[in-house]
Amino acid sequence: MTQANTVSIVIVGGGTAGWMTAAALGHFLDRGFSVRLIESEDIGTIGVGEATIPQIRMFNQALGIDEDAFIQATQASFKLGIEFVDWLRPGTRYMHAFGDVGRPVGLCAFQHYWSRGKRAGFAGGTGDYCLNELAAYAGKMHRGPALTAQTVPQMPHAYHFDAGLYAAFLRRFAEARGVIRTEGLIEAVLRHGETGDVTAVQLRSGEVVAGNLFIDCSGLRALVIGEALGSGYEDWSHWLPCDRALAVPSERVADFTPYTRSTAHDAGWQWRIPLQHRTGNGRVYCSSFISDEAAADSLLAHLDAPALADPRPIRFTTGRRAQAWKHNVIAVGLSSGFLEPLESTSIHLIQSAISRILAFLPGRSIAPAERAEYNRQTAFEMERIRDFIVLHYTLNERDEPFWRHLRDMVLPGSLAERIELFRQSGHIFREGTELFSEVAWFQVMAGQGIVPRTSHAMAEAIPEADLKAYLDTINALYTREMGRYPAHADYIARHCAAQPQRIGAAA
Ligand SMILES: Cc1cc2nc3c(=O)[nH]c(=O)nc-3n(C[C@H](O)[C@H](O)[C@H](O)COP(=O)(O)OP(=O)(O)OC[C@H]3O[C@@H](n4cnc5c(N)ncnc54)[C@H](O)[C@@H]3O)c2cc1C
Repeated sequence: MTQANTVSIVIVGGGTAGWMTAAALGHFLDRGFSVRLIESEDIGTIGVGEATIPQIRMFNQALGIDEDAFIQATQASFKLGIEFVDWLRPGTRYMHAFGDVGRPVGLCAFQHYWSRGKRAGFAGGTGDYCLNELAAYAGKMHRGPALTAQTVPQMPHAYHFDAGLYAAFLRRFAEARGVIRTEGLIEAVLRHGETGDVTAVQLRSGEVVAGNLFIDCSGLRALVIGEALGSGYEDWSHWLPCDRALAVPSERVADFTPYTRSTAHDAGWQWRIPLQHRTGNGRVYCSSFISDEAAADSLLAHLDAPALADPRPIRFTTGRRAQAWKHNVIAVGLSSGFLEPLESTSIHLIQSAISRILAFLPGRSIAPAERAEYNRQTAFEMERIRDFIVLHYTLNERDEPFWRHLRDMVLPGSLAERIELFRQSGHIFREGTELFSEVAWFQVMAGQGIVPRTSHAMAEAIPEADLKAYLDTINALYTREMGRYPAHADYIARHCAAQPQRIGAAA
């Protein structure tokens, strides 16, 4: 039974979503709330989700988690960006690096200077003007203010980490802040006869766990929001047709890169995520274009070190939950939708759902207007990330049937307009609270082969020799700066090396 004056929150599921939610609620909520998490070892977690974006630092900082302690506990490495190999066509590569590219001059964004320099034939790739990318490719790492000049920016970073260890770390954190964990398999969801709200979940043991608010972190199955409440699923597989993945860990390699690598293959792509104790790998593919056996063979053939286990299959449908918040149930994590991990956005979506929950935090009564606004914000956020991921696929010049299909598909209107605007005039406008910045869109559109036809008038007005000198100066400044940074592996050894661990855990 719930206590009379306490709002009782039940978190269903203890994967990354469940324990991130538990940690945040345990940390931020006062004594008027009780938080209980139910998870089942019989079911386990999805066991992937190792690459992140820099926003995760805000989550950890908000919880007061010490960065180096977190890195040690999760066998983490630093991540300065994502490299895309062969995505435009075989033999090409570019990076979506975190942080700025170039430097704005006056009112004019850098991409306008770059595109003019590109058309004139003297500008390099976007990475020549990006500190993160120069450091990433040189295998360097540094945190904090620049070492050479005040005008040089700091490098934003994210992490690669072991998802199982992160969940375990957050579990300790949450339990120390009063979150109660219950091990048990949920067999039934009980609902109020009149309102339809969920009143309790029933475990196989017979125990009934009642609550006022339920947070569904049950993974792709969406036990409460989907199965019990029937919140529908908006299927996006016509834009993102990959529907399967195989994940496999391999031994750590000497080339310990501070970035994720994503390599395009004939019917999908392969990830490579270097951790301190091993490398995480996986193949995302479309089952209409390649068999499971062929995908597994190709995954293993492209590892750069011996595999530590057999590839583990995962099936999914890209899309989003029609209502992420329905009745008194809010979906967080995979129960709220799935986007393939090309831009490492799922853990960010968990974090952003948690901050929305804290902002709208319902007590015993739920205001329909708040629920509607929560759902609107959630849908907008996911749709814009979807567009960003589709962007990588559609601008390809590859030859295989899978890639031709993606090149020829009808795009979401919001994406088609954005590509056309950039192609024509180099303009990119970030809308509202969408996740990816103008700089991120610029890097991917340029990396996928677009050079805008015209530039902003201010960039057109600058004498060509001055423009070239300006671009060369940025490159020289950043190259000198990152030249002072230590190697990524040395940096970790000095600041945050994890204890040696038994190798062979699932990816
Ligand atoms: C191939 C692949 C690669 C990915 N890579 C990345 C990445 O690099 N970066 C990133 O940000 N994200 C990535 N993701 C997404 C990421 O893995 C998830 O967002 C994250 O793990 C959260 O999962 P979850 O907690 O929602 O679900 P799960 O990990 O599946 O957890 C579900 C929980 O619910 C419990 N549960 C389910 N049913 C019951 C029941 N009946 N009774 C009791 N408990 C139950 C389970 O025991 C478990 O504890 C990837 C996803 C896939 C599929």
